Amino acid sequence: MFDDMVNLFNLGAFSDEEKELLRTDFTYKKQMSRLLKEARQAAKRDTCYFCGKSVTSFCNSHSVPRFCLENIATNGDVLTLNTVVDNPLMDTENGVNKAGTFHLICNDCDSKIFSDYENPDNYSNQPTPKMIAQMALKNSLKSISKRFFEIELFNISAKKTDAARMFSDAKNAANEMDLKEYVDSYKKAKKALEKGSSIDYYVCYYEKLNYVVPIALQCSLALAVDFNGNIINNIYNPSPEYRIQNIHISILPLKSETVIVMFIEDGDKRYRQFYKQFNKLTLDDKLAALTLIMFMYSEDMYFSKSIENEVRESKALCEAGKTGQDIISFTPFFDPLEILRESHSLDKRHEIPNLLSEKYKLS
Ligand SMILES: [Zn+2]
Repeated sequence: MFDDMVNLFNLGAFSDEEKELLRTDFTYKKQMSRLLKEARQAAKRDTCYFCGKSVTSFCNSHSVPRFCLENIATNGDVLTLNTVVDNPLMDTENGVNKAGTFHLICNDCDSKIFSDYENPDNYSNQPTPKMIAQMALKNSLKSISKRFFEIELFNISAKKTDAARMFSDAKNAANEMDLKEYVDSYKKAKKALEKGSSIDYYVCYYEKLNYVVPIALQCSLALAVDFNGNIINNIYNPSPEYRIQNIHISILPLKSETVIVMFIEDGDKRYRQFYKQFNKLTLDDKLAALTLIMFMYSEDMYFSKSIENEVRESKALCEAGKTGQDIISFTPFFDPLEILRESHSLDKRHEIPNLLSEKYKLS
């Protein structure tokens, strides 16, 4: 049971045997669900993370703006990455109301601090610095919420056995470090919002497509390698001094268009080569690369049922979806960076259906 707990957040790392066990052993599945519930309960706070006021009922905040999800939903439902990962503990289909939500701030704050970027009327031009800061703020809040939950989950598991305690302690030391980085990003975004400054983020790509793509995404993620196989983030670097640098990507389907924006925190120089290479690609190639990156790196992606078959039938996409971020087991005989280069190669974009291209448009 403990091994599975380790894999819970690394959806792709669930072995087929583990998934089968979850599907067939009802008691086991129930145990695992209870554990998740317990952790969720423990991670619950009593004050709003943004304004600090005490809260009894938190806002159901969406990582991807609700209006974007509604633009791609079929009868109110969207599909999740679990369509390819197939973890029996996770939902494959979500009502818009439940898709990618987190509960960390109060209703009052939620209605104010994202209001510019969550207004579909504000996309006639490139998003303003304020809108970019709001996206960054949302992404860091979502990540903080996820870490709170994981830390509690490992705290609970630490109580089970000595081996579990050692592993959980190590895992939580890493989690605490991650959390600190997300809190720093959060503070930066909050400050940028308050002073209305434009120099805190660098928009490395902006595009408006004149059709509606069947996918909605908003997240920050840590790219491992660029188009030439250079390492951007070495997730194996154990030094507390080594900071993982994230890139923010939003793919926002509007009523009749789609806005795509990619930005970094100013000063995150490790992405410079990546976005230079990216910007040299043709539009079609850019969209293929973004499709691959979404499946490979993000769990915060939602897509329309209109492309369900294309997704399920593409072996390359299914593999990308199972790549996960956290490759735990490698032997000392292999160079982990070599494995990282291979598993996260952006060349794989040529093997997948280009789901953001006009061919798959909703309207
Ligand atoms: Zn609040």
